Amino acid sequence: MKVYIQTDIEGVAGFCFFEDRANGSSENIEHRMRMRRLLTHEVDAAVKASFAAGADEVLVNDSHGSGYNILFEELDPRCRIIHGRNCSGPHWLPLLEGSDALVLIGMHAMGGTPVSITPHSLWKIDGGRICLGEGTMAAAIAGDLGIPTVFVSGDDKVTAEFREKIPAVEALAVKQALSPYQACSLIPSKACELIGQGVRRALERRGEIAPYVIPGPVTLSLFDSDGHVPPLREIMPPVTAGTVGEAFLEYEKKMPWTTFDLRDPDGFVYPGPAAGR
Ligand SMILES: [Zn+2]
Repeated sequence: MKVYIQTDIEGVAGFCFFEDRANGSSENIEHRMRMRRLLTHEVDAAVKASFAAGADEVLVNDSHGSGYNILFEELDPRCRIIHGRNCSGPHWLPLLEGSDALVLIGMHAMGGTPVSITPHSLWKIDGGRICLGEGTMAAAIAGDLGIPTVFVSGDDKVTAEFREKIPAVEALAVKQALSPYQACSLIPSKACELIGQGVRRALERRGEIAPYVIPGPVTLSLFDSDGHVPPLREIMPPVTAGTVGEAFLEYEKKMPWTTFDLRDPDGFVYPGPAAGR
């Protein structure tokens, strides 16, 4: 059994402000490192539970921001981790193909969700017929590949969204949102204990959890704003494709900050015919 663990940081127990990457104060750096440690422990609990449930391969995707958040030297050495520069090729869920189950750790609610911790990214399918957050978008892309999403952790709003869309999913709220920036949270050691139990249970009954499939063709667009505060605006014109996964990839290619195989934000230029463009 191959288990794919997709991670973000905003849904971790103890997290309730957006990361401030511009503030170099020692207080802020200490806070960010602390959040990374909390994420690392939650991910490690999920990794250990995956092996306990019979996995022979566990891939962790460090997917927040720079892709350099998880302190992987502290992770169970049986897993492998995808991290770092993520600007070339289909990069959001690399190596997902062939997985038997998707596990989501640290998820946040979709943009505009009232009273949820740091909500952002609102994906609209067919103009809003279905709305997805980053977590349920990952579930839909996995669904196109026939992979069930079996477990999600995050705040009470993102877990509610999952229960609505995937009723059989194992969903663990590690914190209750009181405002976009205030939560009533489990203590991290408790959150990790419950994540371990939940992931193991979810994988053991993965046969009962159907992949989340949104039949195509679909028209897809993304809404967000500076600071992620409503009103949200459409980031780019919508894209239509046969499946959610194809539409996502097409959309991602057109995002102003994506430079597939051309040039990375730090100036790195890929070799080959695309170089110099
Ligand atoms: Zn994030």
